[in-house]
Amino acid sequence: MNQKESKALKSLKPPKDDRMEKLVSLCKRRGYVFPSSEIYGGLNSCWDYGPLGAELKRNIKNHWWNEMTCRRNDIEGIDAAILMSPRVWEASGHIEHFTDPMIDCKTCKGRFRADHLDSSRCLRKPSKTPHECGGELTEARQFNLMFKTFMGAVEDESATIFLRPETAQGIYVNFLNVKNSSRQKIPFGIAQIGKAFRNEITPGNFIFRTREFEQMEMQYFVHPSEDQKWFDYWREQRWAYYLSLGIKESSLRWHEHGPNELAHYAKAAYDIEFEFPFGWQELEGVHNRTDFDLGCHSKFSGKDLRYFDERFTEKFLPYIIETSAGADRSLLAVLVNGYDELEIKGETRVFLRISPKLAPIKAAIFPLVKKDGMPEAALKLHSDLKKKFKVFYDHAGAIGRRYARMDEAGTPYCITIDGQTLEDQTVTVRDRDTMENPRMSINSVADFLTEKVS
Ligand code: ATP
Repeated sequence: MNQKESKALKSLKPPKDDRMEKLVSLCKRRGYVFPSSEIYGGLNSCWDYGPLGAELKRNIKNHWWNEMTCRRNDIEGIDAAILMSPRVWEASGHIEHFTDPMIDCKTCKGRFRADHLDSSRCLRKPSKTPHECGGELTEARQFNLMFKTFMGAVEDESATIFLRPETAQGIYVNFLNVKNSSRQKIPFGIAQIGKAFRNEITPGNFIFRTREFEQMEMQYFVHPSEDQKWFDYWREQRWAYYLSLGIKESSLRWHEHGPNELAHYAKAAYDIEFEFPFGWQELEGVHNRTDFDLGCHSKFSGKDLRYFDERFTEKFLPYIIETSAGADRSLLAVLVNGYDELEIKGETRVFLRISPKLAPIKAAIFPLVKKDGMPEAALKLHSDLKKKFKVFYDHAGAIGRRYARMDEAGTPYCITIDGQTLEDQTVTVRDRDTMENPRMSINSVADFLTEKVS
């Protein structure tokens, strides 16, 4: 191949996907996500949510909670303890089975998940996988992912407890409590949002796979004869949910667990996957867990967890349809989905197109200039709006710069008080995505925002 041909071929190569690097740097710059314990050099794959990140995560969790509990009559919410009786993890099978196969490389000292070797990188030769680099690999051995700690002053075997690796068990062990106290009848669900901990062998990809994360789980208890109907129903609901976050449908797909992937207790399992810059990866699992969970807890606790009401002829163990989502992964998907760049007047401008309902700051309020009563009018509007919305006041710099800062922070609206405002009580409301800037009465701004963010 001559030089000209090789140059032409190079120009056909797709551009390097550096969106993750750009996103990580944007998250730091704008206060979405910071490396944990950063002043001490950070802690591997642990992250802290900054002012905007904490707000976005709260909005995502509130949206999920509203959809799952407030808007429905058949789902109750709970908030169970992270520390649970060790018997729970015996009964659930986590002590025995919650393991990943781990392989070490004796040459580069890397440690890898045996089932992720093809997507792992040799520590010495990052262009190669651990299969390809020629390093000496150990046999795979099982590694339990649960974090252990001790309860009480004595650190011995009998005091060992675990940080929960999933929130679901807190729901199963409260099945009777919730049923009896809420008087729900089957089919009904229990929802919970909370932290979970897994000592992942290979965490990474920013906040995608971490050792401490948050789950949003809902377990729906059904009669065994109706499991398929509710499984199909929840698959539909959960797909629609991601669209309601503003995620493009073309970035979502289903992955059905084949016979080799299916957990021993599951009758059917589908994951909703999102196309991250590092590939298609799971956002949420929708599983038919059969009567495995209540069956195990009945056996280990000695409590009868069977269900009965006058509609049925006999007691039965309900089947469980589980929807299990990660709050951090949803947040990452919202950021990736919203990241956009435009060339404007020779400058690359970044836009974070987060739906108004989730955006951390709903509107920024600017006086056009710092004089002629404009800051006072802007501060008055800010003070009125902040009773209902997270809003931000800014008078620093040229108006174009202020728009640019807000575009990058994901703020959908910028409201400007100018000379005309003082005459006719109208303001401009600039839309981040259309860049249109219509005028409206200052008194109608609150209604406008309510309609957009609800
Ligand atoms: P993966 O195959 O990616 O390890 P999983 O199948 O083990 O995920 P589940 O046990 O089904 O995950 O957990 C439900 C959800 O919890 C996942 O869909 C994901 O959104 C979230 N989740 C699980 N593990 C992590 C993690 N280490 N970091 C962040 N989120 C996680």
